[in-house]
Amino acid sequence: MLVRQTSRKCFFVSRNISSKLISSSKINTKSYFNFFFNTIFDFQRKNIHLHHRLYTDWDYSKEHGPERWQDTWQLKNYQSPINIVTQSVEYDNNLKPLEIMRKPINIHVRNLGFNISFLADDLKSLVLRGGPLNYNYAFRELHFHWGEVVKNQCNLGCEHSFDDKRYAAELHLVHWNTDLYETDLQALRSKDGITVLGVMIDASDSYEPNKEFNVIIDAFKKVLYPHDKHMINISPYFLFPSRVENYYTYCGSLTIPPLSENVTWVLFPDPIQISLDQLKSLNITYSVDPNSNSKPIHLTSDGSPIITNNSRPVQPLNNRVVRSSFKSLI
Ligand SMILES: [Zn+2]
Repeated sequence: MLVRQTSRKCFFVSRNISSKLISSSKINTKSYFNFFFNTIFDFQRKNIHLHHRLYTDWDYSKEHGPERWQDTWQLKNYQSPINIVTQSVEYDNNLKPLEIMRKPINIHVRNLGFNISFLADDLKSLVLRGGPLNYNYAFRELHFHWGEVVKNQCNLGCEHSFDDKRYAAELHLVHWNTDLYETDLQALRSKDGITVLGVMIDASDSYEPNKEFNVIIDAFKKVLYPHDKHMINISPYFLFPSRVENYYTYCGSLTIPPLSENVTWVLFPDPIQISLDQLKSLNITYSVDPNSNSKPIHLTSDGSPIITNNSRPVQPLNNRVVRSSFKSLI
């Protein structure tokens, strides 16, 4: 079923995927854990050991990367990321600014082998509402998507694009619906369960270093290898652009397996700026512990085990409508 979608709600929920995930099939059980990669924290809090291989079912390589995900995961029509064609965006004057709680909280930083995750210690402490949202959502986790820097040229590592323009990196802040669901895990697989805020990151050697961004680089330095962990105390929204009242919104999916179509996306068109050296500094973590016999979870194109180039290509828009809270960016 495919309908032109203009409502405020994201209708398409991966029910098949959810039921498939919680089946007893070995591979799908593994992938279920794979999906809830940050839940590894929760298990670790309970001192349950999860082996590295639990999240090696997919990666960004040619063999197991985005072009192959559809072999395992049932994709529908509302996938993310997308290219936003700004001329086709519909201005909606009902879209008010988001209400964001900016207080600092304790955040666990963790090397997941394919990304570095910043997970809230208290999964209900920061409430997000307003904007396109019909429910209260709580901050869960943030992470980045970025690329390599080769000969002072950056491989564009963002996921969404605007009129085919891509930035160096993209920040995602993941929130879960606390009105409809008891736990973040329920929300992650359920209707209207997730909202992700996306911030574009522009990098250039002509930009001054972004002092706030050094917090992220310092955290990356503490988690060089899989399972390394670290704690910081920050507001998850400290890297936002100045004009947060301007945003695009559309209904889409997670950009990693199981690619569930229950995500309200809110994307800010104004990028933040970092220096090229700061972008290079993201390319310091590894997908394998040199002291283990494990295989790297993800290899870069030159065979290096450095975690990088972790973005999914844009997906078809199909008949979705992207709405904006603003008429023009001037
Ligand atoms: Zn993401």
